[in-house]
Amino acid sequence: MTDFRFISDDQWRERLNAEEFRVLRRAGTEAPHTGEYTDTDTEGVYSCRACGTELFRSTEKFAAHCGWPAFFSPLAGDRVIEREDTSLPGRPRVEVLCAACESHLGHVFTGEGYDTPTDRRYCINSICLTLEEKPVS
Ligand SMILES: [Zn+2]
Repeated sequence: MTDFRFISDDQWRERLNAEEFRVLRRAGTEAPHTGEYTDTDTEGVYSCRACGTELFRSTEKFAAHCGWPAFFSPLAGDRVIEREDTSLPGRPRVEVLCAACESHLGHVFTGEGYDTPTDRRYCINSICLTLEEKPVS
């Protein structure tokens, strides 16, 4: 089985289109309100577009109206890596990565006051995800 953590940039470029590569492998951000899953409420499971690992479910997705898909929790805590991101001066953030392939997914914000069980908002780029429609319970 491929260990996606050790795939080279050249190999990623073969697997991903230019925009997917920019966001997933270069920690880019898709423009707000443009992603295909921003307002989706279809029942199903969201997998990493880079490696296929199941990351989020529709049952934890909520309408944050922030311009990107928002989840209050990942499918399981060990599916994602959360690490400090100081790329914006004066605005420390927490980056969210796929634990299996270490591709960038988005950021997680805490304490914004959303009426969810965790008060956390996983703000994830649509282009980093693939939705598989299936029953989730
Ligand atoms: Zn992945």
